[in-house]
Amino acid sequence: MCLFCKIVAGEIPSTKVYEDETVLAFRDIAPQAPTHILVIPKAHIASVADVTAENSAVVAHVFEVIAKVAAAEGLTDGYRVVSNCGDHAGQTVHHLHFHILGGRQLNLEMA
Ligand code: AMP
Repeated sequence: MCLFCKIVAGEIPSTKVYEDETVLAFRDIAPQAPTHILVIPKAHIASVADVTAENSAVVAHVFEVIAKVAAAEGLTDGYRVVSNCGDHAGQTVHHLHFHILGGRQLNLEMA
């Protein structure tokens, strides 16, 4: 089982900020901004490269949750949503996840 599947299963603790039947959001263990939350589908999808017509409904739902969580966190001045896909992007956990980063002015560089 991958790290985030273990978090979904409750085998590894996390600081949850949102949970429903198909999506979980929890605080990143090494925050890069005052607010740094990861939003994941509970079902294992390895990365953006593995999103298909069959599983994309949960990705749409992930984005609904991102909007809800960002509002609940009070990120009214804006925030960034990032998903690292594969080695060149530095993906370290191979379970699809979207970083929500906010709470400070973020750098403009994309890379
Ligand atoms: P990425 O590098 O895009 O694959 O992002 C993986 C993220 O998972 C990193 O920001 C890590 O800090 C975070 N992370 C790793 N282990 C945990 C954990 N046990 N709980 C919360 N976040 C974690």
